[in-house]
Amino acid sequence: MSWINFEEFVDLSKLCTIKIGGKARKLFIPKTAEEVKNLLIESLSSGKKFFPIGIGSNVVFSDGTLEHIFLLTRELKKVKLWQENNFFFIEAEAGVSFRTIRDIAVKYNLEGFESLSGIPATVGGAVVMNAGAYGTEIADILEKVYWISQKGELKVFNRKEIPFSYRKSPFQEEGFVYKVVIKLKPSERDIKKIIKEHLEERNKKQPLNYPTSGSTFKNPKEKPAGYLLENAGMKGYRIGDVAFSEKHANFLINLGKGRFKDLKKLIETAEKRVGDLYQIKLEREIKIVE
Ligand SMILES: Cc1cc2nc3c(=O)[nH]c(=O)nc-3n(C[C@H](O)[C@H](O)[C@H](O)COP(=O)(O)OP(=O)(O)OC[C@H]3O[C@@H](n4cnc5c(N)ncnc54)[C@H](O)[C@@H]3O)c2cc1C
Repeated sequence: MSWINFEEFVDLSKLCTIKIGGKARKLFIPKTAEEVKNLLIESLSSGKKFFPIGIGSNVVFSDGTLEHIFLLTRELKKVKLWQENNFFFIEAEAGVSFRTIRDIAVKYNLEGFESLSGIPATVGGAVVMNAGAYGTEIADILEKVYWISQKGELKVFNRKEIPFSYRKSPFQEEGFVYKVVIKLKPSERDIKKIIKEHLEERNKKQPLNYPTSGSTFKNPKEKPAGYLLENAGMKGYRIGDVAFSEKHANFLINLGKGRFKDLKKLIETAEKRVGDLYQIKLEREIKIVE
């Protein structure tokens, strides 16, 4: 394998927003699609699991030293912007943050992204998770996805070919979302003001003053996960320094020295309680890496 920038024994708690986790034996920081291809091929031949990390806002890492092929997307940040048929197109590599897309939407007063603007995400992580808020999903504004398969082949998918659903995409299994094209429309409305309102709304409802990993469970079709968790007595429930937030029962928060084993126990307790009370099997939204 050609030389790719990497670091050893990296503290994984620094690479996720809940700030819990052990060490990555090796963390690769590729700069090109070619380097990502090589890492995927290496993962296939070595049998080591490939795990890309964006902002780490929907992941939790276990303790100890993990041997996965970890890849951080922070050096994949190229952005291109063009106008065509009265639409704006933004081509962004995996590591481009939602904050950058938000800045473009504000600068050119473009609509379509405002509901998503407060989600802490990279475009790669968001497409994989089909991140969404207030009735909009990233799938709604996508035009194209450039994806690298586990065998290292670059494939281009038009949005219509991709079967997205609630917090689900076909990119969750293997491979790498390398680049996406987002399509936004010039607006008559004041986009900066609308985005500001969305950010204020999130601030009111989410425990943003603590390290958190966002929604722990997906909302089952019957009722929102937060409602089920609250009725099952999980709101504010704490083990060690990890708790389900008082502000939003579906958000786990780290109150200081949160440990992975406490977090896992909390998730399992919540699943059991909701299962016993409602006969509903909660589906995890956060990705646990062990
Ligand atoms: C305060 C807070 C609020 C949140 N609010 C929302 C919300 O309103 N709506 C919502 O949907 N989510 C929300 N989330 C969850 C999270 O922000 C989203 O899931 C986001 O899309 C994750 O992006 P990321 O770049 O951090 O991905 P990560 O958390 O780093 O990764 C998520 C998953 O995607 C994989 N991945 C990352 N990049 C790539 C890539 N390029 N190719 C292949 N796989 C990749 C990872 O391996 C992992 O399995 C919130 C989280 C927090 C902490």
